[in-house]
Amino acid sequence: MGILDKVLPGRSKKDILSEKAAERIHSWMKVFFGDVYPHRFTSDEKLADFIRENEYSCVGQSHSYNGVQVVPGMNAVLMGKSTLDECDCNVSSGTITCGPSTTIEELKRVLLEHDLKMFNSGNYMAQTVIGALVTGTHGYGEKATMADGITELTFLNGRGMPVTLKRGDPDFPYAAISFGTIGPIISVTLEATELVSYQSDAWITRLSKKDLLKKGSVATSWAVVPYSDPEDPLIMLHSLRPASEGKQAQKTKPKLFSWSWLAMLIIERYWAIDRMFPRFRRPLQRLANRLNIRSHRRTITDKRDLDYLYDPEPLLKSQRSPDILTGLFSTTHTAYNLAFHVPLDRAEDVVKFIMIEVEKWQSLRFYMKSLIGVRELSDKSSLPLAGNFRGPTAAIDLFADTRDYAWLERLQREVLSYFDDVRPHWGKSAIVPEFAGSLGYEEMERLSDLHRHHYPEGNLKPNERVRKLFDLGRPMASASIEMVRSD
Ligand SMILES: Cc1cc2nc3c(=O)[nH]c(=O)nc-3n(C[C@H](O)[C@H](O)[C@H](O)COP(=O)(O)OP(=O)(O)OC[C@H]3O[C@@H](n4cnc5c(N)ncnc54)[C@H](O)[C@@H]3O)c2cc1C
Repeated sequence: MGILDKVLPGRSKKDILSEKAAERIHSWMKVFFGDVYPHRFTSDEKLADFIRENEYSCVGQSHSYNGVQVVPGMNAVLMGKSTLDECDCNVSSGTITCGPSTTIEELKRVLLEHDLKMFNSGNYMAQTVIGALVTGTHGYGEKATMADGITELTFLNGRGMPVTLKRGDPDFPYAAISFGTIGPIISVTLEATELVSYQSDAWITRLSKKDLLKKGSVATSWAVVPYSDPEDPLIMLHSLRPASEGKQAQKTKPKLFSWSWLAMLIIERYWAIDRMFPRFRRPLQRLANRLNIRSHRRTITDKRDLDYLYDPEPLLKSQRSPDILTGLFSTTHTAYNLAFHVPLDRAEDVVKFIMIEVEKWQSLRFYMKSLIGVRELSDKSSLPLAGNFRGPTAAIDLFADTRDYAWLERLQREVLSYFDDVRPHWGKSAIVPEFAGSLGYEEMERLSDLHRHHYPEGNLKPNERVRKLFDLGRPMASASIEMVRSD
């Protein structure tokens, strides 16, 4: 990256004079990185003055895995490291308005003070609200795409002037999921909802039992043991329904010292074994598959719990050591994560296809890490570039050791070749031209037009792969290669 970074265009008139030191920014798990000129802001006015005169890109907390936030050689407007974090709740309208530095945890805590919560969220709360919204971050169940809750947003155009778009404005849905092509977004207003206590059921079971067990639930996710039987995989199933009177927490466990008990013991410690001995992944999963474990745990969630969707026990998951049904999902600091959306009714086929593919890749010494995550987004988004714009989807999360991340890109490519309507997650998919077909050329054109309309000066520079996919000018890496050649 070094030599290209040095010759890349995009420095500002101002900064060339001030010669600000470059800083390296990394994507989550450090797979993508680049040297940028960092800028932090204490007021919208200073931010507007800056972007009026400089070329720039926007960064939230830099938690996206796919490097969508990395534009090497550029002035990086570090929203997550700025202090534009005002957050006001309007109880009468049931909405909350926040700035570009506000994190999801901060937003949730302000809502809680007013006995309100977000409709849905991703499973990590340190991200900026705006970074998460504009990449189509989702949870599962109804209104799963967080950006569906936006009612109004304000961004600065290329002249540093604020532009406000409201739900119902024709351009609004394109700005709401715009992954760095419209920005900086300086404020969003989101709908909130009342606190609810849920009956949270978690099973270890088989895929064939899923439909029966999830009946009547309002949100379902499942995680597949990748080296179990592809005909009928071993899964961890999680469902939520509003808690009803008389339902109690319960737990069924295998008999002490039985084979199932032994398998549970291994699975409960699997996250640790997996870290230390990656080669044991497949044999351990084959063993768990043969022992045919079954378990069920029901928890009634505390309605004031901030992360009930991913961790049904009170308090935050980060405040406890991992256990089986929560700990197994804790790949946060150990794995590369690539995700994409497939139509919900094809989810089982896609998962089985992936299992068969990775089984073959043993000869290449590639082993998937952890579980294949499947979150069901059960309704349709109104935002054209959301995963579930065309209808309900399953968001499929794949994990690998960081050094193996490129295998996940190969899996994504295989799925794109064999299945229709595979759509990207803007913070986790490899952003490739093959997505254009499922996104729709007209919808893509609308976002490109919106970008050109508000940034005719070309001072806002999105990530190179976004520029290429949306035809927003030449990716800068190739421009710099030409500069190197002509030198
Ligand atoms: C541990 C972990 C767990 C995750 N869990 C989930 C999950 O459960 N569900 C899910 O869907 N995703 C999940 N993600 C993905 C994550 O939510 C997104 O990648 C999100 O964008 C990260 O937010 P950020 O603040 O770090 O944004 P960044 O990664 O810094 O930026 C993302 C994009 O937003 C743009 N941007 C940022 N701020 C602004 C602004 N103010 N104005 C305009 N553009 C802006 C950037 O230019 C970039 O294009 C997870 C990621 C991690 C690391």
